[in-house]
Amino acid sequence: MSGTLYLVATPIGNLGDFSPRAVETLKSVDFIAAEDTRVTLKLLNHFGIKKPLISYFEHNRAQSGEKIIERLLSGESVALVSDAGMPAISDPGEDLVRLCARENVKVCAVPGPCAAVSALSVSGMSTQRFTFEGFLSTSNKSRAEHLESLREEMRTIIIYEAPHKLMTTLADLKEVFGGDRELSLCREITKIHEETIRTTIEGALELYSTIPPKGEYVLVIKGKEPGGKPETTFEQATERVEFYRADGKSLKQAAKLASEDTGYSKNELYNAILEKNHLNT
Ligand code: SAM
Repeated sequence: MSGTLYLVATPIGNLGDFSPRAVETLKSVDFIAAEDTRVTLKLLNHFGIKKPLISYFEHNRAQSGEKIIERLLSGESVALVSDAGMPAISDPGEDLVRLCARENVKVCAVPGPCAAVSALSVSGMSTQRFTFEGFLSTSNKSRAEHLESLREEMRTIIIYEAPHKLMTTLADLKEVFGGDRELSLCREITKIHEETIRTTIEGALELYSTIPPKGEYVLVIKGKEPGGKPETTFEQATERVEFYRADGKSLKQAAKLASEDTGYSKNELYNAILEKNHLNT
């Protein structure tokens, strides 16, 4: 009989959020797999938990995952923890859970703090339907593609961001959603300097041009209003045609897709590109 993998949520700032069940689970398992054993050791010491620790993080997940599965299959139980929050949510764990599913190993959640859900709940945005996008890629191409895929998104959008990248991300968001789009910046959730700033993308850019961003951030962006005027300028819409052209689409297809994305007429876009190309030749 194989053991169980427990995904144990840890505090995202306030140790008071560590649940009694999380403590009991960590005490009961055979060993703990941690994203950073030093970070987890501090937590274990605080709660008086003594347990063997092994490392499971982004760059050893293949080898470490195989070892963990072997031990699970031999009947041991393991708790997986990340540095903060719910494992497997923009944190290591997803692969290990997939391996467990493949091997029919039981996986149990010991739920608790999650920055995305906490930020959404205090954002003031619609919580009826939302999309969690994690971190935007640091590669320019995949980042642009990711943001483009969100241009027409009507659900509330949740993004994780580090403070040193916040201004770049806000500038990129402005390109796609426009400066007037409502945004909640939720920072330092559950910590002393916890703050929710409800503003617009432009407002956030202005704010952080005067003070440096500090702490951990979750950005909660209002989804696109149904119908209404296109938020993009005509020039941006023609750039969109060129984006699809670069992706291998015919001009006709590209104009159609850009028209669907932006609300501008496909014929207008088609003619604008023809004219532009004609002027350039
Ligand atoms: N697994 C975690 C969870 O359940 O929230 C997320 C881990 S991810 C590597 C770290 C990101 O979560 C940070 O860059 C930040 O965007 C967000 N985050 C974590 N703790 C936060 C906090 N206390 N306040 C605001 N954002 C936080």
